[in-house]
Amino acid sequence: MQGETTPVAPVSLLGPAAVSAWIGLGANLGDRQAALRTALSAMGALPGICVQRVSSLYGSAPVEAGGPDYLNAVVQLCTTLAPHALLAQLQAIEQAGGRERPYRNAPRTIDLDILLFGDQVICTPTLIVPHPRLHERAFALRPLAELAPELVPAQQLAAVAAQRIDRVQGAGWAL
Ligand code: ATP
Ligand code: CA
Ligand code: CA
Repeated sequence: MQGETTPVAPVSLLGPAAVSAWIGLGANLGDRQAALRTALSAMGALPGICVQRVSSLYGSAPVEAGGPDYLNAVVQLCTTLAPHALLAQLQAIEQAGGRERPYRNAPRTIDLDILLFGDQVICTPTLIVPHPRLHERAFALRPLAELAPELVPAQQLAAVAAQRIDRVQGAGWAL
């Protein structure tokens, strides 16, 4: 029927057990675009992960923090990793990218957050999914909505409309 969309299972080389995970990338120190690109290729090189789709590149002002503007994007992964295993791999990529955490919301070379992991709801001391602050953040909601509008209610986008965010480059940034 016109106007209706049918959810389509992700096409994956990883087999039917693979799940779609949505990762938010952010950087506001150093060569930000190179850092995002490096993280993206590191994710794609991991066993049990396929990069499915990449959003445009966005520029955003820091939220509840000082420092330079961010570059942000969202990527859709297909993965057979368990959620905590994926988090560990993302944190290893952050470490390799020189991530430091001197204080909360400090400027960073690279930040990789699990925004959504399939339709799973996870609440553990080290991992909360959906990401607990996803709904407050235009820099995560806007690129996520670009890739998967059905996952982002219009009222959530409207609620963050005052946050400054600009689409600075199409998905070709990742090439
Ligand atoms: P925020 O979580 O508000 O985006 P941040 O990204 O700066 O802040 P980090 O220092 O990168 O925070 O992460 C702090 C901890 O958050 C991590 O050690 C991790 O265990 C935990 N965490 C909980 N849920 C998630 C998630 N969905 N994705 C990534 N990290 C998470
Ligand atoms: Ca974050
Ligand atoms: Ca993080």
